Amino acid sequence: MERTLSIIKPDAVRAGHIGEIIATFEKNNIRIVAMKMVHLDPKGAEGFYAVHRERPFFGELTAFMCEGPVVVMVLEGDNVIARNRELMGATNPADAAEGTLRKRFASSLQNNAVHGSDAPETAAFEIGYFFNALEIAG
Ligand code: ATP
Ligand code: MG
Repeated sequence: MERTLSIIKPDAVRAGHIGEIIATFEKNNIRIVAMKMVHLDPKGAEGFYAVHRERPFFGELTAFMCEGPVVVMVLEGDNVIARNRELMGATNPADAAEGTLRKRFASSLQNNAVHGSDAPETAAFEIGYFFNALEIAG
């Protein structure tokens, strides 16, 4: 059993896609074991995306993540890190496969609807960034 962090980004929350994104996880046999809505401030977004600090898009990305509330979830299931990445689709919606969350809901490379951890180490860091042990069920 594996865990990963999922974020429904401000663009998808604003557009009213929370329900469809959560339904997609549930239909694909992924369990939601923690969930909350938060409105990040710049420090919160910069800490979360610290690995991208040196990238040219860091400032715009962190500003975007503060534009409005996000829904943060811990997902659980067999091989859930890779399975969530598959459901999400390519980073750029123009390259995302038909039926993926980013194909369905993303509007640009930056405003791409969802985040998902990309490895066990990043999942552990990202889950701990938003949730303590008491906030994660089962
Ligand atoms: P995420 O980490 O959000 O799950 P990812 O792993 O597919 O997405 P990363 O390379 O980690 O993609 O980039 C993190 C986020 O930064 C992307 O999801 C996107 O919102 C934004 N981003 C990535 N590349 C660019 C770019 N060239 N210009 C603007 N924003 C970008
Ligand atoms: Mg990433």
